[in-house]
Amino acid sequence: MKKIQMVDLKGQYEKIKAEVDHGIQQVIDSTQFINGQAVKDFQADLEAYLGVKHVIPCANGTDALQVAMMALGLKPGDEVITSDFTFVATVEVIALLGLTPVLVDVDPETFNIDPAAIERAITPKTKAIVPVHLFGQAADMDAIMAIANRHNLFVIEDNCQAIGSTFTSAEGWSKKAGTIGHVGCTSFFPSKNLGCYGDGGAIFTNDDQLAHQLRGVVNHGMFVRYYHDYVGVNSRLDSIQAAVLKAKLPHLDAYCAARLAAADFYDKAFANHPKLRTPARFAKSSHVFHQYTLVSQDVDRAALIEFLGSHGIPAMIYYPVPLHLQKAYLDPRYKEGDFPVTEALSNTVFSLPMHTELDEEQLGFISSKVLEFLNR
Ligand SMILES: *Cc1c(COP(=O)(O)O)cnc(C)c1O
Repeated sequence: MKKIQMVDLKGQYEKIKAEVDHGIQQVIDSTQFINGQAVKDFQADLEAYLGVKHVIPCANGTDALQVAMMALGLKPGDEVITSDFTFVATVEVIALLGLTPVLVDVDPETFNIDPAAIERAITPKTKAIVPVHLFGQAADMDAIMAIANRHNLFVIEDNCQAIGSTFTSAEGWSKKAGTIGHVGCTSFFPSKNLGCYGDGGAIFTNDDQLAHQLRGVVNHGMFVRYYHDYVGVNSRLDSIQAAVLKAKLPHLDAYCAARLAAADFYDKAFANHPKLRTPARFAKSSHVFHQYTLVSQDVDRAALIEFLGSHGIPAMIYYPVPLHLQKAYLDPRYKEGDFPVTEALSNTVFSLPMHTELDEEQLGFISSKVLEFLNR
């Protein structure tokens, strides 16, 4: 059996080596390392794939979120509502810009931001909502856009974990996750569903005016060389990373399908187990399984993870500490017990290996070891 890893980037690379190597070599031959043709080509390919008018490439997913908030003109004191159960980047950029993060709890089934909790958190200072499409499926964008429209708020989708996922509205339309709100953000970190071989990110919008602002912010607030209209940042996707992404994008749907097949295998193996809850599938969103995350019940989670490790099976906890209990984000507005769903999830979830290269032998071994521990 092949060695089991949380992600298998080498195995994935070997299948597309010729395309990737050719793209990288072209960049080297051109010496257009910054803003080269590969960046322009990938941008156009991603716009077509997502069905969105503008893709603005940038240096990473965290920058994408920061640039989006800057381009929307959010100012210190403005409140931004986001999920308590997520990777730290979302709340980090809110804090860095001097905005006020307002945390809300999540839905216990989908792990995504709870629209009713958003509504309760709105004040006259609220300016934006940042739904995080966690683990590979979109939050309830129907409810979130309705709230945003009612209260005149911006919606910034953190789509770092759900690129390729499709959201189907109760009204009948379907759109790619990340293209529904005013602006969407993604990361091309190597282990993401569409990952490059270093850091990378992108911002999406259908709004021409906002796209113009975003292009300025990522480029030092500059449209005419050495004339700076506002304070920006330097955040670029480099050409070599764009070449890798250009080679990988045509495979993204197949990658999502491979992840889904692995998830189906796990679902079947753990169906109706009294100590496990398999990940809920939200009816309005296709699931691209960035992570396969189970909720355990009456399980010594640390002992389970150690047992799996002793059999060569890595397992991870995404995320062990809710944002409101993280040292850097402690705030007198929040205390332990304020976000019961997130707190319970942080204590009970664990994620199994999930990537595009898992085979049935590996999946069978992983699930049998999980069951062996739970049933002993
Ligand atoms: C990965 C990730 C980010 C940050 O992306 P980087 O490219 O690592 O900066 C932000 N939000 C979420 C939900 C993520 O998973």
